[in-house]
Amino acid sequence: MVGHQLGVHALVFAGGTTPDEITRSITQAKQAGFDILELSLHDLGNLDVSRTKAELEAANLGVVCSRGLAFDADISSSDPAVVSRGAQLLQESLNITSQLGGTLFTGALYSALGKYAHPLSPAGRANVVRVLRELAEEANHRGMELGIEVCNRYETNVVNTAAQAMDLAEDIGHDNVRIHLDIYHMNIEEADFVGPVLRAGKRLGYVHVGENHRGYLGSGHLDFSSFFRALKHIDYTGAITFESFSSAVVSPTLTNDLAIWRDLWRDGPALARHARQFLATALEATGAGD
Ligand code: MN
Repeated sequence: MVGHQLGVHALVFAGGTTPDEITRSITQAKQAGFDILELSLHDLGNLDVSRTKAELEAANLGVVCSRGLAFDADISSSDPAVVSRGAQLLQESLNITSQLGGTLFTGALYSALGKYAHPLSPAGRANVVRVLRELAEEANHRGMELGIEVCNRYETNVVNTAAQAMDLAEDIGHDNVRIHLDIYHMNIEEADFVGPVLRAGKRLGYVHVGENHRGYLGSGHLDFSSFFRALKHIDYTGAITFESFSSAVVSPTLTNDLAIWRDLWRDGPALARHARQFLATALEATGAGD
């Protein structure tokens, strides 16, 4: 298990993607010993793409891009104008991921990140399949992959379990559509941490780790050992990325979207160093347990 690329979400270090925030995120991710920086594309207006690419390369840091959509730009809607705005946002974000040198664009690509007041409609699901099929074809031409992050019921009504994500990926019908599991969401929706990993199997393309309360790894009750053992069982070789949020860093708007009503940490670099050590130790133990 040792040898996985380890990533850290940039929101551990900075709330946006202005040049200063990008420099801080890259420097601190590198100092904490990570291989990959995950950049959330929620602040595109401030992102200097070529400068960011140059800084990532200089630091020898890989990049993964992620995002959720918005209620007025949402491909799971049945309103064609709302769907079209969502599709445009996805296209723009895929372009930027590519320009940054990333090969994986992931997250809640299929809906807004927020509480829906109703179940997903058949028309809405058909729109998700159609738009993501087109995006997957576009990504394929560029040698890129899309990730479908499985999120909990309070953040989306499209895919809450690995089984639903597998069904969606099958309906989209392209091999470069990968499943993205996050143990924080799995804890809310899945029966355990093993079944969903086995179910995703070779389609599993990306993994987020965070505690049940999104604080310091090891300070909650999640069974990382079972999860990592399941990853080993399917010979998962992809990246494992640490994700945690605090309003000490995250902007007020995104703080509201992510429901960060209390802060479990204030010092991002200290949290990241701890997470890097926790992951290395846990993965080493998983490998040694045969
Ligand atoms: Mn996540």
